[in-house]
Amino acid sequence: MKTAVRHMLWTIVAMLFAGSAAAQDFKVTLLGTGSPNPLFERFGMSTLVEAGSEKLVFDVGRGSTIRLWQAHVPLGSVTATFISHFHSDHTVGIPDLWLTGWIQRPFGMRKGPLVIYGPKGMTAMMADLQRAYAADIAIRSVDEKDPLEGVAVEAHDYDEGVIYAKNGVKVTAITVDHGDVIKPAFGWRVDYGGRSVVLSGDTRYSPHLIEAAKGATLLIHEVSAAAPDLLAQSEIATAIFAHHTSPQQAGQVFGQTGPKLAVYSHLVLIGDATHAPPSLDELVRQTRETYAGPLVVGSDLMQFDVRQDEVRVTDPPKTR
Ligand SMILES: [Zn+2]
Ligand SMILES: [Zn+2]
Repeated sequence: MKTAVRHMLWTIVAMLFAGSAAAQDFKVTLLGTGSPNPLFERFGMSTLVEAGSEKLVFDVGRGSTIRLWQAHVPLGSVTATFISHFHSDHTVGIPDLWLTGWIQRPFGMRKGPLVIYGPKGMTAMMADLQRAYAADIAIRSVDEKDPLEGVAVEAHDYDEGVIYAKNGVKVTAITVDHGDVIKPAFGWRVDYGGRSVVLSGDTRYSPHLIEAAKGATLLIHEVSAAAPDLLAQSEIATAIFAHHTSPQQAGQVFGQTGPKLAVYSHLVLIGDATHAPPSLDELVRQTRETYAGPLVVGSDLMQFDVRQDEVRVTDPPKTR
């Protein structure tokens, strides 16, 4: 009898453990939620999606490597990297991820190539970076004996459609609208285990993205807002704002796609010396003009556990 009870208890424990393990198999971490502005609290645009055995990094803005290591993810363990478009706030972290990830210390440890997918021009950019950093590669391979396989590059130029399918994870590139001279520009849909995460990339209000994001479990969308008087006075503020999605428009996108959770990342809050940028409360207030559903304003290192029926949010650690 005792044995039977013990067996039953162990079965329950095993079931609970299996349940929690399964629930954690699709996780998103915001590595950077900012814009080109060099803010210490919001690093450059970058998002980590962990799905099964895959660790995928989408865009590699400033400080992406620091946030990865803060999240206890060795840079060398990233299985593939994706770039949405060639604005520098989405790419400046590439050499850091590539070269620091090669260093054979716990934060790095890459043994094979950096695998990177980007729009047409990605392969050329990586060839240029290999030339730019040839001295570092030559020095470290001799001096620190870092293996050359770990600094190799496997680059791909992609177009719209399914661009990656491995270990049950599928990544689909979605053409978005980031303005007439910034083409191509992409967002992505990541599907895994009957759930999906959509990342908008940089875009204006995009019906095409809405179509591709329908039924997504988690929708992470960019947003921009400007101090009201500034748009009337500043050409540059108007130009920046015109490349992005307003809170009211983002609310429409959320309403039309109906995710379990909508999240803002890549916050482009426009101000200047005499106009304070809109606050986060103001961002939410403007979104609420068009959308009443679940909404979170993202911050660096915020995490999302993507489950079948809900998305659980973990706030970032207080000290960082
Ligand atoms: Zn951009
Ligand atoms: Zn951007």
